[in-house]
Parts: sequence; structure tokens; C-alpha cells
Amino acid sequence: MTDTTSCQSPALDDASLSADEARQRMLDSVAPITHAEKVPVRNALGRILAADVIAPYDVPAHDNSAMDGYAVRFESLASDGETALSVVGSAFAGNAFSGLVGRGQAVRIMTGAVLPAGADTVVVQEVTRVTGNTVFVPAGQKQGQNTRRAGEDLARNAIALPAGKRLGPAELGLIASLGIAELSVRRRLRVAFFSTGDELASIGSPLAPGEIYDSNRYTLYGLLTRLGAEIIDLGVVPDRAEALEAALREAAEIADAIITTGGVSVGEADFIREILARLGHIGFWKLKIKPGRPMAFGRIGHAWLFGLPGNPVSVMVSYAQFALDALLRLSGVDPLPVRPLLPVAAANAIRKQPGRREYLRGRVTEVDGRWQVFTLPHQGSGILRSMSEANCLVVLSEASAGVQPGEAVDVQLFDGLY
Ligand code: AMP
Ligand code: MG
Repeated sequence: MTDTTSCQSPALDDASLSADEARQRMLDSVAPITHAEKVPVRNALGRILAADVIAPYDVPAHDNSAMDGYAVRFESLASDGETALSVVGSAFAGNAFSGLVGRGQAVRIMTGAVLPAGADTVVVQEVTRVTGNTVFVPAGQKQGQNTRRAGEDLARNAIALPAGKRLGPAELGLIASLGIAELSVRRRLRVAFFSTGDELASIGSPLAPGEIYDSNRYTLYGLLTRLGAEIIDLGVVPDRAEALEAALREAAEIADAIITTGGVSVGEADFIREILARLGHIGFWKLKIKPGRPMAFGRIGHAWLFGLPGNPVSVMVSYAQFALDALLRLSGVDPLPVRPLLPVAAANAIRKQPGRREYLRGRVTEVDGRWQVFTLPHQGSGILRSMSEANCLVVLSEASAGVQPGEAVDVQLFDGLY
């Protein structure tokens, strides 16, 4: 299903790691799935190109007008004063002028219409004056102005989109502009996930005393659906060795990646560690971060395991900071997306000890015409509400010893434009 890597990989040793080391080890371990399938353009949204898309012809196919106006021969125009030209026809988008524009002539032209033979320049209608069949063009026009050249968007045989590109709205449009109806994309990544914990109840069943509803599986459902994965929900697995082992074995049979939540914190890890050691090659990491400190990563059979912590916010933070790019790489995305850390002025002080990277839920807000970021008051890793109220993570580096109001902090916004 996936390429195999060495089972003795030092990447999987138990370790105390920085966020960067953990991320790099994961990325170095995983290799993309290779299977491809053909899909129609509309079904390709969010999919990953398995092969380069080559432009079958120039886009645009013809020189055309970028404005409504008059197509002229530049050499017809006087260098000073007005030039009178006789209007010999019209060119509309989709309905070209079939004749030739000679010296002293002009063709009325609309945006997108093919530039008629003989014309090389478009004069916008706003600067012209028309009397009967004569158009008067002022001096100061530039040769070639207001025209779009054939192939200026894409030249024939050029790589329009490279393999490894994840297809968004712009790419669907670009592909359609090439007249391509079907594409080769990587098959979807199969991701199995389950929650662990004796305290967890599934929605639809009443809560017994001491139980809580399993929220992680729903958050993961959302995250993985957005990722474009084929999701396999294996439900809640109790903290029992046989149940856990059976779930992991089943998941490893059917999935490229397995995501579990819970059971990796110090108190519980020993129990899971023994099972995982028997089933595969898994490292337990104590990351120098907050939240999301404990994490397991490794391999069971052909499947990669991401053992995320149990707390709902830790799940989202460790998914975004570690699992996401590894899953994208597994899916075939290349290069990985850039995730800018944007400097924004902190609206409030933030306390922090140096030594670990911290991710705080924040809200980037415009105050008196300036963008500022507020950290939300409730930063407990079990408080999912603040994840919903936040629109960004404030990322404080290992070295940071706290932040004063007005100081710039690094921010990762949750949502992009598209
Ligand atoms: P654990 O890592 O298993 O020790 O869990 C840490 C905390 O997260 C505990 O308070 C759990 O009850 C909570 N937790 C674990 N899994 C889930 C889940 N699927 N949904 C909601 N909370 C959870
Ligand atoms: Mg637990």
C-alpha cells in the first residue's frame, strides 16, 4: 500500500523532542502512496494530481482584447494630435471580425474578442470620440496596449499544473480552461481512527455516571474529511489490551494511516506501549510543546500510526502541527503547503517559561484600524469551546519568556481565503 522504510528507524525511538525534530522525523519517515485513478474535473476538488497537466494548446488561444474599445494598427496613429479612423466592423467575444484592419481603419472590439488581423493595439472607448463611422483617437497610445497575447497564460506543451499539486478552485478552473475533462489523481488516503477511553460514550447513547461524550472522533471526522481522506471510523475502544490490539490490527489491515486519541499520557502509556511494541515499531515522544506533549508515532504493518493525546484541544494542535503534513505527504502532496507565521501585535500580556513551544488559542481582531491578537482566557487543553472561538493559534517559540502587550507574536490563522 505504501512504501516501506527501515523498521529499525532511529526516528521511532522513545525520545524527548522539539516540535521541529518531531515534525521532521515524521516527514522523513513517510513516503507517498502511488496508486492513481481518473476522475472528472468536478470530482477532483481537494484531490492530488498524479501526473503533470500539460497544456494542449495556448491559453488564451488567440491574441485578444483586454478592454472594450477600438482595435487599430499602431502605425496608423499620429504621434501628436487626434487621428481619425474609419470604423470598418465589430469584433465580439465569440464572434470575430473576419476582415483585415488596414491603415486608417479601426474595428469596434469588446473584451475577450479575437484581435483582428492587422490590428496590434486597442484604444479604450472612454478616450475616443465617435462621429458617424469615424472614431477619433487622441495621441499618447502605446503599441500593443490593452491586448492579451496568445499563450500569455499558458503556452502549448507547458506544464500547466505539476504532479503533487492539491487541486483547489483555481486549479479546477485552470484545468477547464484547457478543455480537459478528466484527470489522473492519487487515490484517496485511507485513514482509520478510533478513540480510546473507558469513560467515553458515543452520541446517541445516554451518559452513565462518570462518562463523557467522545468528541475527538467528530473533530477528527471534520479534519480528515477536509483533508480529502477516505475515513474509516472504528468507534470507541475501551482501555483493554485485547480490544485495543484487535482495533489496531483491523485498522492496519485496511488503512494507510491510523489515528488514535488518548492513552498516550504517562499514566496510560505503559499499557499501550506493550501492545504497540508487539504489533509494530512505535516511538513514544514527549514533545517540548504545550498542549499536546505526549504522542506516539510509528508503523504497524503498512500503516502509519499517529497516537495523539486525548484532550480535545491537544488533538487539534497535534494534528495541525504534526500529523497534517505527514498525512499530506503520504497522500502525495508535493511540495507541502507553506504555513506562514504572521507577526501580529499581542493585545494582552502572555506568561510563559522558556523551554517549550506553546500554542495558544487567539483571536485576530481589528481594533481602531490595527490588527491585534487576543489570547482567549480559557487555555485548558480540554476546553474545546475556545478552539471554536479562536481564529488562530499564537505560536510562542521555545526561547520565549513571555510577551508584553504590543509585542509582535507569531500567528497561524485557521482559515485561508479559499
Ligand atoms: P488520556 O490522554 O486518555 O489520558 O485523556 C486525556 C483527557 O482527554 C481525559 O480527560 C479524557 O477524558 C479526555 N478525552 C480522551 N479522549 C477523549 C475523547 N475522545 N473525547 C473527549 N475527551 C476525551
Ligand atoms: Mg484515556
